Amino acid sequence: MKKISILGSTGSIGTQTLDIVRQHPDQYQVIGLSANSNIQALTQQIKEFQPQLVSIGTKELADQLSQEIDIPVHYGMDGLIKIATAPQADTIVTAVVGSVGLLPTSAAIKAGKKIALANKETLVTAGEIIMREVEKNNISLMPVDSEHNAIFQALNGENKQEIKKIIITCSGGSFRGKTLTDLQNVTVDQALNHPTWNMGGKITIDSATLMNKGFEIIEAHHLFQIPYEKIEVVIHPQSIIHSMVEFIDGSIIAQLGPHDMRIPITYALSYPKRLNLDIPSVDFIKQKELTFDKPDTETFKCLEYAFEAGKIGGSMPCVLNATNEIAVEYFLQGKIKFLDIQNTIKKMLDNHQLVANPTIEQIIKIDQETKQATQEELSS
Ligand code: MG
Repeated sequence: MKKISILGSTGSIGTQTLDIVRQHPDQYQVIGLSANSNIQALTQQIKEFQPQLVSIGTKELADQLSQEIDIPVHYGMDGLIKIATAPQADTIVTAVVGSVGLLPTSAAIKAGKKIALANKETLVTAGEIIMREVEKNNISLMPVDSEHNAIFQALNGENKQEIKKIIITCSGGSFRGKTLTDLQNVTVDQALNHPTWNMGGKITIDSATLMNKGFEIIEAHHLFQIPYEKIEVVIHPQSIIHSMVEFIDGSIIAQLGPHDMRIPITYALSYPKRLNLDIPSVDFIKQKELTFDKPDTETFKCLEYAFEAGKIGGSMPCVLNATNEIAVEYFLQGKIKFLDIQNTIKKMLDNHQLVANPTIEQIIKIDQETKQATQEELSS
């Protein structure tokens, strides 16, 4: 029986994780749950899964929740860290959105927890620090992100020295095939309409700008300790191949499957075992074709910005992420246009004074300062 806590239990990955727990009550017990603001959904989850501790975004919400339930309610960053480090749990699913995941993930690693990592921003902002902590504490860090989960499966039993390159597939997002002119006046609803994956709002926008793929390059670089030169992105609109590894002898191993996040979530939790999931098989005859294309980086510039920021390293990927978080929030609120996201990121990256080997405290400071500077930039 695995004892799990979920950071971000009411979001897309959180609710799908609980769906797996629901299907396999003999395998998993929920110890802790945390949500940012969705108090109704969290209350329902507490009633169903009977966790031992919970956390929510603010003190006001915590007071409100305390009246409904009779277990300790924590809140804010301290609450997230409590859930991440509670001794009763052995595995932490990090499914919060944004750099808010950094400190609790780091705390969970130091507490010796197994990590099922869905919060890619943690590795984007502080990949080197986090991977050092993973190694030092000798813990298991399993990627939930479908591409990295695929790469992990393709690398199973292989020698990393024999990798020629990693090929990360990309659906292309909501605006695949569009030109810069087409993108000038696209709406939030259009951006949220992802062709294959059903995900949360922020990551769906990140997919539309290709920033999500940019983050995934940085995530892959850290997770698999692969130089950026050996990472390639290929557009694959059907989202059946979730990523591939090419070896020095020319062999390519890919992981394929339906685009359903419960598959990588379950694998991250059950590895090295596989659990039965009630998901329809890929119908290859009906599917007919799997196609591939080059990403259009002239139009979707975030992918190149991420490659550049990743190669520079240090504090640069933190700035990439912090600017993106604010710009996407503003776009979702209708305050800026779609193309303002990539334009703002370029500006903030150009203005940044690089810190080559930041500590976690410096990363957190740069993250906050960049977010504030981006808000000022976008409000002026
Ligand atoms: Mg992904």
